[in-house]
Amino acid sequence: MRIVERQVPKDHVATKYLQATSDGFVVETTYIDQPRKHILCVSTQVGCPVGCTFCVSGLRSQESKYLRNLTAREIVDQCWNVAREMDFSSGKPLLFSFMGEGEPFLNFEACTDAFLHLVMIGWPVPIRLAVSTSGIRPDLITELGNLKFLVPLKLQISLHGPTDEVRRKIVPHTSPLADILAAVRSYPLTDGRTVEWNYVPCAGVNDAPEHAHALVELLGPGWHVKFNHLNLAVNSPFQPSPAENVSRFRDILHAGGITTECYFTDESSISSGCGQLSYSRVEALALR
Ligand code: SF4
Repeated sequence: MRIVERQVPKDHVATKYLQATSDGFVVETTYIDQPRKHILCVSTQVGCPVGCTFCVSGLRSQESKYLRNLTAREIVDQCWNVAREMDFSSGKPLLFSFMGEGEPFLNFEACTDAFLHLVMIGWPVPIRLAVSTSGIRPDLITELGNLKFLVPLKLQISLHGPTDEVRRKIVPHTSPLADILAAVRSYPLTDGRTVEWNYVPCAGVNDAPEHAHALVELLGPGWHVKFNHLNLAVNSPFQPSPAENVSRFRDILHAGGITTECYFTDESSISSGCGQLSYSRVEALALR
């Protein structure tokens, strides 16, 4: 893997890297410098076959541009290339987050191998792992629970809707919520493991009070939901939810015993969000 482009947004918080494989494919890696941790957001596939309707990697798949899985070596190289440019002098931990381009659970063996390699490298600061899934393989959520990585591991499930009907408008290729919930409820929360649910509020699609009440009903108390801003992709059928809708939605979850956080950055200025930079540049770079 080699870095072929860097984009730094106005706020200098996140840097987007475009990296090329030796056979000429391009994927993206994002470095986010947060006050209490470094985050490296890593790609696991070239394009993504899941086809989420708000995601540029998903648009790639709709145009038959899911190309291939990355190898464990390519995933680790991606991390290493960016880490070489980072300043670790603050001592804050480094989180490897497998939620860039691709569905890690459709490239499970390479991703878990990459986790094991990353854990074995002698980093100058403590490391943590995170993996995000659309929920397409609930059986592999169970398998992940059986693996040991010796460092904290966060599992993030892309929820985006409280019912299968609402969810399928956004995540067309996934598994029934009942199967995902069954796997998550039996997932071990030991050795620093945590689970959280991701939710991208889209205006008029999944952001109404009845959706929030249905989510409380679905999950029950004690869970954590993270709201991410919808970064507008070219041809996106959705618009970001207004702030007042998100606030009302969160209030209903809080009343139901569910904690929340909002993770809204200026990433749209660097075409962040799964696959957006690599998609916009893949033709121009003409690496193949
Ligand atoms: S949001 Fe994630 S799972 Fe969905 S298409 Fe994009 S990369 Fe794939």
